[in-house]
Amino acid sequence: MVFPYKHEPLTNFLNPADRREFKAALKKVCCQLGKEYPLIINGKRIFTEEKLISVNPANKEQVVGKVSKATKEHIEQAFEAAKETFKKWRTMSPEARANVLFKAAAITRSKKHEISAWLVYDAGKPWRQADADTAEGIDFLEYYGRQMLELAKNQEMNNRPNEHNIYFYQPMGPGVVIPPWNFAFAIVVGTTVAPLVAGNPVLLKPSENTPVVAYKLVEILEEAGLPEGVLNFVPGDPAEIGDYLVDHKDAHFINFTGSRATGVRIYERAAKVQEGQHFLKRVIAEMGGKDTIIVDKSANLDLAADAIVHSAFGFSGQKCSACSRVVVHEAVYDEVLRKTVELTKSLTVGNPAEEDVYMGAVINQKQFDKIKSYIEIGKKEGTLVYGGQTDDSEGYFVYPTIFKDVDASARIMQEEIFGPVVAFAKVRDFNEMLEIANNTEYGLTGAVISNTREHLERAKYEFHVGNLYFNRGCTAAIVGYQPFGGFKMSGTDSKAGGPDYLKLFMVAKTVSEMF
Ligand code: NAD
Repeated sequence: MVFPYKHEPLTNFLNPADRREFKAALKKVCCQLGKEYPLIINGKRIFTEEKLISVNPANKEQVVGKVSKATKEHIEQAFEAAKETFKKWRTMSPEARANVLFKAAAITRSKKHEISAWLVYDAGKPWRQADADTAEGIDFLEYYGRQMLELAKNQEMNNRPNEHNIYFYQPMGPGVVIPPWNFAFAIVVGTTVAPLVAGNPVLLKPSENTPVVAYKLVEILEEAGLPEGVLNFVPGDPAEIGDYLVDHKDAHFINFTGSRATGVRIYERAAKVQEGQHFLKRVIAEMGGKDTIIVDKSANLDLAADAIVHSAFGFSGQKCSACSRVVVHEAVYDEVLRKTVELTKSLTVGNPAEEDVYMGAVINQKQFDKIKSYIEIGKKEGTLVYGGQTDDSEGYFVYPTIFKDVDASARIMQEEIFGPVVAFAKVRDFNEMLEIANNTEYGLTGAVISNTREHLERAKYEFHVGNLYFNRGCTAAIVGYQPFGGFKMSGTDSKAGGPDYLKLFMVAKTVSEMF
């Protein structure tokens, strides 16, 4: 009997004892930096010559870990192992599989700050963001474990005289999990353990930016009793093994989260039936966002500024749900902008491995260069009202940046930047607000700040995003409370952390017997 699901509480960093413990975890992890990590195939640890080198984004010289790179031969071995263990793993009871997740949640909870500290170094997360990432990982373990117990119950079917119908869910077979780096623990946990608890072996190829935290998860699941071969850890260069994983005839599903470009490529490739493949692959692709906060004439303007700042600059805007466009009624435009700039001035930027800052560095040189180029584009498309500075001498630092008077069709209003850059547009009425909110190819999150009930009701149906928020920011969905997934080119709307998610990795079977 499990107790009802409740999300993991976040750490209160105002509490001196919590701060001390977090600093101690950072120190402990610091002593373990620079180690070498193997692939894990069928429970065996394999060290390769070639390594992915993970560095602290806020301190490029600091090597976090050197992780072995899988080749196509390793992928082949991993699929063989997965196919073999599928025979046993699928027959283990749903309770036994769920127990692995519950135990993994307990193990993670027991070293919560340590996992968060790895996130600080590997992904450059500030303390609160790292803490929320770890908590969300625990939530996925607890929530999907319980969802599996629910799904294991036979569903009520109609029967006629002398007829007995049953309907139940079965696992699909081995599959591939390809997560991004920006929730280097939470998304890796969620996308991996959902198919696992449903009974499917997994090949996990983590992001090349954050392979060390992913390795920590595999260790936790091993400690929690996951049998060998059920989870195979195959980090590597996506250019070398990405297509190979996706195209493989034994991959029943590809559970992808990442950019639009990669997601579309995977979606297209997986549609092709390969020689020897006797099923259609399922692709779950959760992709980018270009998320809007609407500020209505009737809005609480302090609440609006707070929602904009935290949604735009939390983790330096490196969230698919980050606010990068603000659409404001002309009557309150100047005031919202002024309050937003004031609040932004209070944000601190620095190396989170050394201090408790609001923002750290962005993930790597490529992202740094990309964001910098969008800041230059923004200067041509609107007026820079705050920020714009960048510095990559020690780490990849980009300061919070605000543009005003930007046209709805401008590139910085249309393209995902994935950095701390937000653009403001002024509008005449609520119709225009909705029109602009919907005029991108993405449809992930959005928020409406308004005290006009009629407008909120309209937005409910006319603001076309998978996760819509009223009178709060557009980030920070919680597992089991706000299932998460996008419309349009933001993805397949899989609703991670929701009651339908596990079914994506299962096939439903009907058995009908006559007596
Ligand atoms: P990315 O597309 O560059 O990489 C994502 C993953 O795909 C990584 O593991 C990468 O190694 C792998 N990959 C890259 N090329 C591949 C290929 N050809 N074949 C197979 N795998 C390949 O994205 P990213 O930079 O890691 O993440 C940022 C993006 O993720 C942003 O666009 C963000 O909006 C999106 N994101 C979306 C969600 C969501 O739930 N919708 C959540 C987090 C991040």
